[in-house]
Amino acid sequence: MTQHFINGRHVAGRTGETMAVLAPATGEEFTRIACGTADDIDDAVKAAQAAYEGAWGKLTAAERGRLIAKLALKVQDHFDELARIEAQDTGKPMAQARADIEATARYFEFYGGAADKVHGHVIPFMNGYSVSVVHEPHGVTGHILPWNYPAQMFGRSLTASLAMGNAVVLKPAEEACQTALRLAVLASEVGFPDGAINIVTGRGHEAGAALSAHPGIGFMSFTGSPEVGKMVQKACAENLIGCTLELGGKSPQIVFDDADFDAAVPIVCKAIVQNTGQTCSAGSRVLVQKNIYDAFVGAVARQFSKLRAGTPEMDLDCGPVINARQQGRVQSFIDQAREQGIPVLAEGQIAQGVPNGGFYVTPTLFGPVPRGNRLEQEEVFGPVLSAFPFEDESDAIRLANATAYGLVAGIWTGNGGRQQRVAKSVRAGQVFINGYGAGGGIELPFGGTGKSGHGREKGFMALEEFAVTKTIVHKHG
Ligand code: NAD
Repeated sequence: MTQHFINGRHVAGRTGETMAVLAPATGEEFTRIACGTADDIDDAVKAAQAAYEGAWGKLTAAERGRLIAKLALKVQDHFDELARIEAQDTGKPMAQARADIEATARYFEFYGGAADKVHGHVIPFMNGYSVSVVHEPHGVTGHILPWNYPAQMFGRSLTASLAMGNAVVLKPAEEACQTALRLAVLASEVGFPDGAINIVTGRGHEAGAALSAHPGIGFMSFTGSPEVGKMVQKACAENLIGCTLELGGKSPQIVFDDADFDAAVPIVCKAIVQNTGQTCSAGSRVLVQKNIYDAFVGAVARQFSKLRAGTPEMDLDCGPVINARQQGRVQSFIDQAREQGIPVLAEGQIAQGVPNGGFYVTPTLFGPVPRGNRLEQEEVFGPVLSAFPFEDESDAIRLANATAYGLVAGIWTGNGGRQQRVAKSVRAGQVFINGYGAGGGIELPFGGTGKSGHGREKGFMALEEFAVTKTIVHKHG
């Protein structure tokens, strides 16, 4: 049984109501979390405001950075414990959980080092004036996060805001909030003042909605589905505050006929099965030039058919998906595509001996998928890859941009001119050439366009999102 973490203490919440958390690997309840209400959110925002106006707000940028960097070391001390909790909560294979905790620590290292490197600038102006531009915190920032990478999201979203000097209130996903609660305690242990980091667990339409609508919040960071993202943005509009929305994707991997097959095939597979396809930036569409379509897709199919899904401890290619609802949703995409007669090019397997109640789905490769099909247009958020043939460069660009999303794209070609032309033409916040993904890419600005959202996280750019720019004009004669 876990509680909220408000003002440096565990609290049961105003109503004492709790809800069950199921382990995706078994489908069995393994803990209960507190169901936060608007009153709990209000308590958390007040604690954050007090920290911002008090002990936390008084720290220098270097002191904040030192605390965040200490948290990176603390995470390394608790590495196995955090990886185990993350795997239990999300069902992900242990290797993935370990990679996630490593990336979480990297966020703390990066933003710990960045905190005192946010410089303003000076603008030459009229004689007798000095003008400086400085970056200041919003005050209290709100963070609503999904369940797919809970620890990494804590590192990515909260830490950039803390580095800028904001105090934070987090509403993690109801399915997976154990690592966030643990990280908040570890932060306390390394010396974060009470109230700098507050966590209220519970349901989205209660605790999440209350957080996004709270007038004490100066900026919101939301990561999740486009549907909920719209609600959060509307709530922010009522309070006239800004927000970043990190939403879904339907990201293409574009493979031209001069691509290096040996390099591309394993990465095309990994980009969709990593985290069991529950990655916003998953490469869920593979677009292949017609003259190599059969050969390339055949090579991907051979790898795909070797994929296995199992428990975290089995540590296979995939785990279960997060819950029964997602399992049903992913399965419905697979069933409908089969009913429509879309060819199944390969299927992985669910390993022998997985618990019956676990939320497993079979990794599946479809192709050729008809243009305009649901598999082209909608995010599955599971280990389902769709293949599409294309004619030439302009057809590839048309196909890549055929969805409302625009998060990430991969381009596989040895032709330098084409690399640049296609990179400029695809609608995406990140483009990889002859690769895909970059071990978390902590330093690299990340975010989408269109239905994938707006604003940028990661890298130095995130610090600007969590800051207000102030121009100071001094007339001194
Ligand atoms: P979701 O939108 O259902 O939930 C995300 C969070 O919002 C949860 O904490 C939930 O409790 C909360 N929430 C739900 N209703 C709310 C409301 N009315 N008001 C405020 N908060 C509310 O998303 P999900 O299914 O948990 O996550 C999967 C989605 O997240 C996918 O679409 C995926 O692509 C996206 N995602 C995007 C990124 C990115 O960086 N672009 C990263 C990870 C996940």
